[in-house]
Amino acid sequence: MGKSTLVARLRDEVRFHFSVSATTRARRPGETDGADYHFVDEPAFRRMIAGGDLLEWAEYNGNLYGTPRAPLEAALAAGHDVLLDIEVQGAAQVRAARPDALFVFVAPPSVDALEVRLRHRGDTSPAEVARRLDIARRELAVAAEMFDHVVVNDDLDTAVAEVAGILAASEETDSP
Ligand code: 5GP
Repeated sequence: MGKSTLVARLRDEVRFHFSVSATTRARRPGETDGADYHFVDEPAFRRMIAGGDLLEWAEYNGNLYGTPRAPLEAALAAGHDVLLDIEVQGAAQVRAARPDALFVFVAPPSVDALEVRLRHRGDTSPAEVARRLDIARRELAVAAEMFDHVVVNDDLDTAVAEVAGILAASEETDSP
């Protein structure tokens, strides 16, 4: 099970506002516009960048992904925690903008296991699988030093419990 499956489980089990990213990537079967992503074309995405509407953005595998600033700030102002499912370049930008944020890197059990999962998912071409594996290798290389925690997404239930435990522990530390 991939990172988005883990995030979906967390959305059921932990109270937080999920930041719905904007992306120029094509919608995959089963994804809902406005819930999984805001699917936009590149000119619309570029307008969001120019307008300062994104807290962070990055190019990943030839597509643009970014975090809309307004809903995130509204959720924080209302006292909610906000969860962002983003890649490492974006995480570095959030780290700079919000040093108080908590960073959890969700690692595949191994690059080989990731390859098997992507191949079997059926919606990812062999060329795209190769590119995503290449990116994953580079992300893994920087993960340990950049993130506060690394959770290996081997068994889904265990990974969900680990992330939930990290969040609960950080709440305790934050409270007065
Ligand atoms: P996917 O195409 O598999 O949904 O996402 C590809 C990568 O983009 C994943 O690592 C995902 O976490 C990341 N991503 C999703 N939304 C955003 C975003 O708003 N900003 C950044 N920087 N990365 C994102």
